[in-house]
Formats: sequence, C-alpha cells, structure tokens
Amino acid sequence: MTTTATLILFILLLQSISITTQTTQRDQPVNESLNEEDVEIFSSTNTTLEDGLIENLSVRSTQGFFQKFQRISVINSFMRDLANRFKPLVSIERIGSSFEGRDIILMRITSNSGANKPIFFMDGGFHSREWLSPSTVLFFAQEISSQYKTNKRVQKLLNTWDFRIIPVANPDGYEYSHTKNRMWRKTRSKIPGSKCRGVDPNRNFNFHWKEGHSSSNPCHEDYAGPKPFSEPETIAFSNYILKLKGRIKIYTGVHTYSQVWLTPWGYGNKRPRNHANITRAAQVASEAAFQVNKRRYKVENSFSNLYSIGGSTDDWSKAKGKVPYVYTVELPPSSENDKDFIGSGFIADKTMIIPVGKEMFHAFITLAEQVELMGFQ
Ligand SMILES: [Zn+2]
Repeated sequence: MTTTATLILFILLLQSISITTQTTQRDQPVNESLNEEDVEIFSSTNTTLEDGLIENLSVRSTQGFFQKFQRISVINSFMRDLANRFKPLVSIERIGSSFEGRDIILMRITSNSGANKPIFFMDGGFHSREWLSPSTVLFFAQEISSQYKTNKRVQKLLNTWDFRIIPVANPDGYEYSHTKNRMWRKTRSKIPGSKCRGVDPNRNFNFHWKEGHSSSNPCHEDYAGPKPFSEPETIAFSNYILKLKGRIKIYTGVHTYSQVWLTPWGYGNKRPRNHANITRAAQVASEAAFQVNKRRYKVENSFSNLYSIGGSTDDWSKAKGKVPYVYTVELPPSSENDKDFIGSGFIADKTMIIPVGKEMFHAFITLAEQVELMGFQ
C-alpha cells in the first residue's frame, strides 16, 4: 500500500470514530458528554501564524494537543484550526501585539454573531509560568465549539452568550518561560534605567495602581511598571474591554495556583454591591467542578484570601469595564504539597491538563447559567 493510501485509510477510520462519538453524545447532559476515550478529529496543518489561512488539511487528534503544554506557534495554529472547522461559530481576531511583536489573539465563540448578546470574557496566560491557565482556557474553547451541534446545554449556552477568550494574554513571557526561565512571570518589556526586564501585567492597570502588594522595583516579580498601562499587552486588553463596556457580564482571569475562586475587591477590604450574587455564582460553579473529579475549589474574597493588590485586572474590569461578575480563578494545586504536582505549585504536570480542563469546562458553563438565572446583575 502506498503511503498516500495508508493516510487516506487512516483519515477515514478517524472520521468514522468521530461520527460515532458525536452520535452517542447527542442530547446528553454536559456531565456525561466527555470521556477519556473521546476522539476529536481535527483538521489541521503545520501552518504557523505567518502562513495565513489554512488550506492544506491534514488530520490530528486534539487529544494530542492537550497531551502537553504547547508553544505559541502551535497554540495559534490550533486556534486557527478551530476557527476554520467551526465557522461561523468560532472566529479569531488579533487585538494587538506584545512588546516583542507577537500577535495577541482573541477567539470569539457564539452563534448568530450579529446579535447583541451578553459577553463572557476570559483570559489565560497573563502570568507566563502558569501554563495550566492557557491549556484550561483552550480546552474550554475547544469543547464549547465542538459540542455546539451535539449537546443541548452547550447549544443554549452559545445561543445566550458571546464568548471572548484570550488564551495567552502575555505571549512573550509565555515563550520565555519555555525557552529561558521556567519561573518567569512578567512581560518582557525593557525598563528604562534598569537592567531588569518585564512588568507584572496583573499590577499594571489604572485602578488603585501601585497600591498594596505591588512593587516599584523593576527587578521584582510584582513590579507594577513605570506607569499604569506601560505594557502593550495590558493596553490591548483594556482597549478591547472598554470597547464593549456594558455588554460584558462575566470576566474570569484564569491563573494558578491555590484552587480558589477569588472575588472582588482585591485592593482593599471592601465588598461590591452585588457581592452576594458574585459569591453565590462562584459557589455553584465550584460545586460543578467538584462533581467532575472530586476536587474542591474554595470561593473567597481576594483581599481576605491573599493581601491587598492594586492595579489588578479583575478589579479594573469591574470598576472601569463595568463588568458585574468578576473573578480570578486560581487553578490547582491547592498547595505545593498536592500529590499531583511537581516542584513549585506553578509547575503542573502535563497529565493535569485534561482533568483540570474538564473541571473548568463544567464550572464555566454552570457559572454562565447561574449568572443568567440571577439576571446578569
Ligand atoms: Zn497568576
């Protein structure tokens, strides 16, 4: 048999598995729709961002994508694949560039994109070393895209909500944490007058900037920057949010680690007007996550759980972006002693990508449903 014939046979075999999987999943509730054995067939190429639109289709399993923590070029290619495969449900957009010139990519996932729906905004990868964050966000994007046709609950979700997702909000730092320093947290910008580089993007927003637990020393991990919005990454993010002011009903910033949903405010010991609703929605979401792998996520006020944080993304999104439901989700482990994790709590084992992805898939869907139930306010 020629190599081409073998390849074609392989493709046909994979396609038949895909059809079977989709048929058995039809109309089942979310809780039963994901199995380890699920094989998602995926059209893909070896294209990178520079290659432009995908034309030459090949096949790979998306399970393969989630077998390890991927580099930016693979992630960007994966997003393009989703957009191509699930057009017009999924689209991607470049919302800015990083300090080193990398594209900052946003995925939009919704049915009937012309409608003026409430927006669920999500980001991952603001902190470079927290690799479990982009993988979890991407897993969520894949699942809601691929289950739209077969899962009624997901269908309703995308008919109600307009998802805007930035899987890697700080691509320079992410790459640097792969190539040079695994524990890198910040951006990679040059700081005038300093030998040290990078700003903590989660301290760089202009709401209570440089207050509380943030540093004015460029060599520190939580350096707030020479001024608010000194970083192209935080500028791109905030411009996008402000453009949609009033429409965004949920913002979740996905980070690691400590297994907790943090609620505002983070800058001081105060609670927002809708504190009870914010807390309630997170508790319901956390319970949904628990049902998947019996892993418990706490729900706590940010200030009480950590310490005072000024200039953070979540507080800013609530105060300036007028988003009613705002969270920073800290993924597993709960502590560095967690048996599933190696080394620092920031360094998750790759075997955690899919289990945590599934937990958060359920949690985010449940969160959206709960917020709708409470009237989006
Ligand atoms: Zn973080």
